[in-house]
Amino acid sequence: MTDNISALDQQNISIKRLAQILSCKPGEEREALRLQAQKITFDNLSRAIYFRGLIEISNVCTLDCRYCGIRQSNRSVRRYTLSHDEVLAAAMECVEMGYGSILLQSGERTDDAFIDYVSEIIRAIKTKSRSEKLPDGLAIGLSLGEQSEKSLERLYNAGATRYLLRIETTNPELFARIHPSSQSFENRLSCLRSLRNIGFMTGTGVMIGLPGQTLEMLASDILFFRDEDVDMIGMGPYLIHPDTPLPGAPAMSNEELFRVSLNMIAATRIVCPGVNIAATTALETLHPEGRQTGIAFGANVVMPSHTPLYRSSDYNLYKGKARLSRDNGDTWERFLEDVKSMGRVPSFYAWGDSPHFTARTESHD
Ligand code: SAH
Repeated sequence: MTDNISALDQQNISIKRLAQILSCKPGEEREALRLQAQKITFDNLSRAIYFRGLIEISNVCTLDCRYCGIRQSNRSVRRYTLSHDEVLAAAMECVEMGYGSILLQSGERTDDAFIDYVSEIIRAIKTKSRSEKLPDGLAIGLSLGEQSEKSLERLYNAGATRYLLRIETTNPELFARIHPSSQSFENRLSCLRSLRNIGFMTGTGVMIGLPGQTLEMLASDILFFRDEDVDMIGMGPYLIHPDTPLPGAPAMSNEELFRVSLNMIAATRIVCPGVNIAATTALETLHPEGRQTGIAFGANVVMPSHTPLYRSSDYNLYKGKARLSRDNGDTWERFLEDVKSMGRVPSFYAWGDSPHFTARTESHD
């Protein structure tokens, strides 16, 4: 790499240059990349690390994404939907932990009964989670897949303010290879745009290391994040689930996959300075220090699991899911210690809106 990472022009950066950055191998240049991502993080988002308690409310799914362990056609999955009270109890656990927000995630159901169920839960959580320390209650994020605009409006009106819908890949041919023909890129994109129009703090992301995916494709994904003006990003390595049709040949070795995943976080931070970026469970599943390392490369959000333990293993999107959680005592304490030793500040009782979202919504008022 010849030119200086710190002199990168975020708006005019080319796919070729970004792909070069993604290919960066351990050494001086990569350390420069990491330090630049870290500087941009500190300058734009402070040193805070925000927590989103992840509650996997249901693994019932009507879609058939070819990479996903809970796809409809996977008959070996024991299907569940948490009761209203179970979700509420898990959310109150997150309040006790001092998190400012939660993320309710599920397989894909679009029927009215499901939207009713989630809306009621959102209302109950908003009412019950208010306290002196969190006067407006928990911030509620959703990750319920592709929904109609009407359903998304209902969920927003119930009190959810954030929504995460990964585009998975922005390359149309690759998208078509990893999904059945009934699922379209256009529909997912139009859903993502609806989220933003409705007023959600909008998140997207991709999987890294899909069979047939190139660094140029990943570079285009980063430009997509910038051009769609999203507020939050969740990305992680693609991890094989053996009971899915996709496995194919892994695109990279685990070592390379980890390296590219971290480079993706750093490059995204450079191109989209004010967004929230999660250090994901998949990253930790790939490498025991994955979450901490993701933070060192520019992530500022983590999502500890608060799915009831007895259901957690039924929500396997991929094999061997890691669990950062209070019930996993040592891991949790070590995580906090590591984060602090990196000069970062675990932030409690704070919503942690992304500065990008705050800026774009204030400027539209
Ligand atoms: N059904 C919702 C949310 C659940 S899946 C949705 O699709 O939006 C959440 C994310 O898990 C997906 O967006 C996908 O990026 C990721 N995922 C699914 N299978 C995976 C796998 N095998 N490896 C890594 N990530 C996976």
